[in-house]
Amino acid sequence: MPEGDAVWRAARRLHEALAGERLVGADLRVPRLATADLRGRGTLEVVPRGKHLLHRIEGDLTLHSHLRMEGRWRVLRASRPPSSTGRHTVRALLWTADRVAVGDQLGMLDLVRTSEEHRVVGHLGPDLLDPAFDRDLALANIRRDPRLTITEALLDQRNLAGIGTIFASEPLFLHGIQPWRTVRDVGPEAVAELVDTARRLLVLSCRAGRTTAGRTEMGDDTWVHGQVGLPCRRCGNTIRLAPVGAPPRERVLSYCPTCQRGLAPTDDGARQSPLGHARPDYSGGDYSRRWDRA
Ligand SMILES: [Zn+2]
Repeated sequence: MPEGDAVWRAARRLHEALAGERLVGADLRVPRLATADLRGRGTLEVVPRGKHLLHRIEGDLTLHSHLRMEGRWRVLRASRPPSSTGRHTVRALLWTADRVAVGDQLGMLDLVRTSEEHRVVGHLGPDLLDPAFDRDLALANIRRDPRLTITEALLDQRNLAGIGTIFASEPLFLHGIQPWRTVRDVGPEAVAELVDTARRLLVLSCRAGRTTAGRTEMGDDTWVHGQVGLPCRRCGNTIRLAPVGAPPRERVLSYCPTCQRGLAPTDDGARQSPLGHARPDYSGGDYSRRWDRA
């Protein structure tokens, strides 16, 4: 699922292609927007807000989208939508004189008044990628329900916006904290450190491409996320998966039973297989030092 960094990159891609340009055409493929006519309007800017995208258009209009699980925005160099973008999963086509933006598998698409954006993003907590990130408010939001697991608290976009399972599980690993511990057990200092680390990793991933482990190669860019069944780079024990939170809203997180101090209460310790990618071998110590400088 795209997290704050991926949405930030999508917004930048769209902004660079469309800002200051006039829309020659738009095809919004959700029933209630079928009659929306955006032709002739200029794009003012495209900005991220947590995992949401806000495409601000002249005339007090904002095209709001959310990528959900598989969504993405692509930008093609063309003056009109090519036939290959006719996939049934495409939800939005926007085109200028020389660019086409294709919104595929979008989880959400709305058109709202820019002056009323709060209707679609007003519920979000402080945005980790906002230069003016309100850390105190985010920490206060997390502390509001100390009985929740730290994972649920970090993933709740009303507390702070931009974290998904990658940017929850990687800071938890780096700080040696079990994902199923409660906010109260983790304690305010460690919660603040987790939030700071999540923010640092997100910012780094925006600049350098997705990475939480200091490398950007596919399958080698994380410590625990996507590494189930593979040896932990710090201790060599096998990375495992465990459900966290109450059904039906539980999330599955990767963790290291040694670095994060024990098996999950729901984990019977049975063998868990790798998800199907091999990883090149790196010497652990050298690797950690490189990360510490990043
Ligand atoms: Zn480990």
